[in-house]
Amino acid sequence: MQEIEVLADLVRMARSAVAFTGAGISTESGIPDFRSPGGIWTRHQPVLYNEFMASREARVRGWKLAAGMFLESRAAQPNDGHRAIAELERCGHVAAVITQNIDGLHRDAGSTGVIELHGTNRKVRCQDCSSTWPTEDIVERWQAGDEAPECEDCGGPLKTATVSFGQSMPEEEMRRAGEVTLRAELFLAIGSSLVVEPAASFPRIAKGNGASLVIINREPTPLDELADAVIRRPIGETMNTLLERLGYSRQ
Ligand code: NAD
Ligand code: ZN
Repeated sequence: MQEIEVLADLVRMARSAVAFTGAGISTESGIPDFRSPGGIWTRHQPVLYNEFMASREARVRGWKLAAGMFLESRAAQPNDGHRAIAELERCGHVAAVITQNIDGLHRDAGSTGVIELHGTNRKVRCQDCSSTWPTEDIVERWQAGDEAPECEDCGGPLKTATVSFGQSMPEEEMRRAGEVTLRAELFLAIGSSLVVEPAASFPRIAKGNGASLVIINREPTPLDELADAVIRRPIGETMNTLLERLGYSRQ
């Protein structure tokens, strides 16, 4: 496949590459994405942050969704895509991983420079006093019948440490993501529909700053026209082929 050769050359040439990932990289681990057929938004209505904060009824709905997703993804393992990115990081090609995912699988695969733009569902945070707990513990309470768990310290509403619709983006993560994006000579957008803002602005910024842009995604994205190469193939096999072309062992 010609695009893979283009990608392999760009990886070899770039002094600093950034991987930017979305829900698509975790579907091969059995976690559904949002926008594919059967994806989460085709089955559930999202709960907006203001609604969550304003009414117990919304918190009950929010927790049903969050606990369901946590239980569904708890046993998930990183796949070839996550492992290949970690390998590219170990070999000095990838300097940072910006992810929209909340599932923690990049860290599990061994990536260290991970910037979680939308937070993590492995922790729960009190919305009043900011105390945190392992999600496991709070989901246990939820399973025992506590439909909208509250903070044991202050009684405030608990929510997974993820960025909900209508909630502001985390400042430090946005700053770091902006910094690594501006340093990137190659920007790899992997498994993202590139429609969620402001996350999707990073590939555009990288390209505007002179970086090469490669998009690996099964479906077309609004940024395909900007890209130096577009690979519409499954992520795991694409990343394995890339590692082989670069002369690294399959993960
Ligand atoms: P998205 O659901 O909008 O898009 C995922 C894209 O990946 C789709 O275009 C799909 O065609 C593609 N894709 C799916 N599986 C693929 C595969 N195996 N190979 C190649 N392409 C594949 O995802 P998004 O852009 O990340 O935006 C969704 C939002 O949902 C994010 O903000 C994220 O926080 C959240 N989310 C996270 C998870 C997770 O943590 N795993 C899961 C669902 C949603
Ligand atoms: Zn509290």
